Amino acid sequence: MDYQALADLLFPNVTETCEEVEARFPARNLPEGAVVSRMAPSPTGFVHLGNLVQGTISERMTHQSGGVLFLRVEDTDAKREVPGAVEVLINTLKHYGIIFDEGATIDGDNGNYGPYRQRQRASIYHVFAKKLVSEGQAYPCFCTEDELTAMREKQEAAKVNFGYYGEFAAWRDRPIEDIKAQLDAGNPWVLRFRSTGSIENQFKFDDLVKGKLTITENDIDHVLLKSDGIPTYHFAHAVDDHLMHTTHVVRGDEWMATLPFHIQLFNALGFKLPKYVHIGPLMKMDGNSKRKLSKRKDPELALTYYKAEGFPIAAVREYIMTILNSNFEDWRRANPDASLDAFQFSPKKLNPAGSLFDYAKLTDVSKNVISKMDAETVYALLLEWAQEFDPEFGGKLAADKGYAVAILAIGRGGKKPRKDMSTWKEAKPYMGFFYDEYLEAPVFDEKFDKAVIKTVLGKFVATYDAADDSAAWFDKVKAITTDIGFTTDMKAYKADPAAFPGTVADVSTFIRQAVTGKTNAPDLHTVMQILGKERSLERIAKVIATL
Ligand code: GLU
Repeated sequence: MDYQALADLLFPNVTETCEEVEARFPARNLPEGAVVSRMAPSPTGFVHLGNLVQGTISERMTHQSGGVLFLRVEDTDAKREVPGAVEVLINTLKHYGIIFDEGATIDGDNGNYGPYRQRQRASIYHVFAKKLVSEGQAYPCFCTEDELTAMREKQEAAKVNFGYYGEFAAWRDRPIEDIKAQLDAGNPWVLRFRSTGSIENQFKFDDLVKGKLTITENDIDHVLLKSDGIPTYHFAHAVDDHLMHTTHVVRGDEWMATLPFHIQLFNALGFKLPKYVHIGPLMKMDGNSKRKLSKRKDPELALTYYKAEGFPIAAVREYIMTILNSNFEDWRRANPDASLDAFQFSPKKLNPAGSLFDYAKLTDVSKNVISKMDAETVYALLLEWAQEFDPEFGGKLAADKGYAVAILAIGRGGKKPRKDMSTWKEAKPYMGFFYDEYLEAPVFDEKFDKAVIKTVLGKFVATYDAADDSAAWFDKVKAITTDIGFTTDMKAYKADPAAFPGTVADVSTFIRQAVTGKTNAPDLHTVMQILGKERSLERIAKVIATL
């Protein structure tokens, strides 16, 4: 067979050589050891936690080595594409701090290795496709859907492996006349790789996460170009990662199955193989067993979920690092105030079986992260969230910044900061009582006589002095306690509760409930300082009137 003639027949318009294309994508000028990696998501409109995990790994590996991270949009499957999805993708990743050095942008491209949308690279793939055909390493296949179905049925009956290989590869060695006749008839074709591999052979391979692997050769003549001339993932991966000088491919381990083919393809094209970082899926506990996070069952898979709940970005990123590298938490304890980027991330420490996602742990991490922020930062982030997800609350926060910041400053800044919120959604339940519209009527414990509560509140109003410091304030509460025959001796009370009608804690709770509507609220002395004397006492007076 004259392969060059076949190549010219299939790709009459391709005149460029591979060398010429390669000259347009020169080697990158980077320091020794710099990692070049990419995200290559499909624009399906759904950005999930897995994307962020993959992005975080690539981002860390590139940027901590002085390398380059780029975004390449895998839009080869036009059927799955959702309008506006690229925009959603770019904005979401940016929101989570994954900053690309180059690649697809909302309205075009940024960088010298583009285009960064694969469909725009069709002519590039065709140059390499033509070369493979001219070398006898690829050939056109005119099989119809029906013929492929018949092939599968035959394989099923014969109990042999499925796929287009060996004797089943109907177009592998057809004469050029047959091909011409099909082309003349205008029949659609795909370009297939001519595999020289055998499933009898194995070879060794080193994956940065999975470790040393023994891999079986690929014997399937996979499709390189679809009938519309657009490449499959496999072919685009090889050509693009070669031309864009990717050193590390970070991707989901669902690609392990076709890795033997990818390795074969890089070899056939004469490309240097990148290093592979195959990451396991995100898992979660479901009862006593682990399962993959699923788009259908788990709303927490969608990144929009974290935004709507109001998890700060810093918290989500911090959490992701805890599930990716088991030594991260020790590092964090030793470096409580360091930037996340100061941690040396290692792909070798990824769990090959996949990371376990634990919502409770995320909440915990988030609580810590928020507790370390200063009040101004909390205010800015909370306001941004509320304006989108609870505009009414957002309006109140915006109306008096000084007031909101004073509230958010309660218990902040010390060695042991308060841990009140894990999400911005929890802010209103926590601090809403500071705003009259959100103040709820107190529900007092029925075991106390209303008259007693009324007496406590009356005495408190009568003796309250806004100039009292916290200690003087509490002394007055204790005095009221003794006055009404309750005890201030908590030890004695615990030893024999029945001996006392109530304690100083109960008295404090009455006052707290009258001022805040709730049984637990931050330090009441501070709360009353922020509310102001008039408003605090007015609230108490209103409650007295109901008793
Ligand atoms: N679109 C592919 C995916 O999201 C890209 C895989 C890759 O990074 O090569 O799985």
